Amino acid sequence: MEFDYDLFVIGAGSGGVRLSRMAASYGARVAVAEDSLVGGTCVIRGCVPKKLLVYASHFPHEVEDAAGYGWSYRPGTFSWAALIAAKNREIARLNGVYLSLLEKSGVQRYDGRATVADAHTVEVAGHRISARHIAVATGARPMLPAIPGIQHAITSDEALDLASQPKRIAVVGAGYIAVEFAGIFNGLGTQVDLWCRGRQILRGFDEDVRDALASAMTQQGIEIRTETSVLGLEKYRDGTIGLVPEGGTQGHYDAVLYATGRAPNSARLGLEEVGVTLDRNGAVDVDEYSTTNIPSIHAIGDVTARPQLTPVATRDGALLAASLFGDVRRSVDHEYVPSAVFSTPEVATVGLTEDKARERYGVVDVFKTSFKALRHTLSGRDERTLMKLVVARGSQRVVGAHMVGRDAAEILQGIAIAMKAGATKAQFDETIGIHPTAAEEFVTMR
Ligand code: NDP
Repeated sequence: MEFDYDLFVIGAGSGGVRLSRMAASYGARVAVAEDSLVGGTCVIRGCVPKKLLVYASHFPHEVEDAAGYGWSYRPGTFSWAALIAAKNREIARLNGVYLSLLEKSGVQRYDGRATVADAHTVEVAGHRISARHIAVATGARPMLPAIPGIQHAITSDEALDLASQPKRIAVVGAGYIAVEFAGIFNGLGTQVDLWCRGRQILRGFDEDVRDALASAMTQQGIEIRTETSVLGLEKYRDGTIGLVPEGGTQGHYDAVLYATGRAPNSARLGLEEVGVTLDRNGAVDVDEYSTTNIPSIHAIGDVTARPQLTPVATRDGALLAASLFGDVRRSVDHEYVPSAVFSTPEVATVGLTEDKARERYGVVDVFKTSFKALRHTLSGRDERTLMKLVVARGSQRVVGAHMVGRDAAEILQGIAIAMKAGATKAQFDETIGIHPTAAEEFVTMR
């Protein structure tokens, strides 16, 4: 049977674009549909704009630190409007780059929301199109609990485009997005309360990391309210918002940011109608080759239950393209996926937490250090850097590396390569450090 395309990709985010371009590079005839801006969450309303705001939030710290080095500055002023406008210009530029990448690789683009009609057919913008393979790369969206007054909350989507800077903000949730935005707003001068339902922020991270970040955030003036569940939101006459935990409304916030997880965009795509299996959270079920229970339908990225990280989506997209149209069939590999939280200070981690390593390997050796970085001897800032290695006793392999501190993400990327290659603690120790750096502590922990 002749198909209109070899591959039809639904969703032009990081994963969908990489998959489309790679498939086209193998000679496949490829089309991609997108109903919003090309670039997806990461480029338009996630990683990239978020990181730009993180940079903006660090300048006040830099200026304060400079005093210890002999510099004096007059108090500066900050324009939220100028920052958001600059950020939007960069996002528009990146959107253009993505559009031209697709065009140059010969991928046909359809503007509009595509749905799956059967195992080899999609419908988009009034067209009925056949394809040998269909790939779903529709991503995820912020998830809000159904509680009274939730319509007064914003999500990270709106937080990146607020018309003005809130004076006081409540952040509800304690995962990646919550702690990142808490740091951004605090750095820019907004008063931040973080409402965490658990006993500590960043559940799932190493306990030492959780404690170190929480105490650094508290020291910077962020109020972390642990073990507090929000039952509702209430808007006052003056326009401010209160949160309702057990025992009465609290706070007068200009904005309430909910960062309580993200849900896969799998509904109303026709998936269930054609028999694609979803898990109980609505994520598309896929095998290790990113294929669903229907052999011609595949899925990559945040619409699946895999780690919600751009580089995971792009890698899985590249592997799927190679499996379908190249000469190698390779399954995805999610061991030792490094990740960072762009909180202030930064958190980066690869491999297992101490607790998980004990569960998996029984006996482990733990090496950790907490120190004041050289930079802060003169700046006077009371900020500590935490580094930790977890080693499986039997094999002596380093199975977990964790850091809280400046440049943690930049440093852990290299450590991740060593761990992926199976490095042992002795090989870390044999490596010569780069002096004076914080990173050298990873090769001098005894
Ligand atoms: P996470 O899953 O990381 O965290 C969700 C947080 O919300 C948890 O602290 C959770 O608490 C809490 N929570 C859930 N439901 C409620 C509720 N009803 N009331 C109060 N708190 C609640 O989700 P995020 O939204 O932060 O981010 C989604 C994903 O996006 C991340 O897991 C990550 O994979 C990705 N991401 C990655 C980034 C990066 O790489 N730097 C940046 C941003 C996002 P509890 O722990 O108790 O369940």
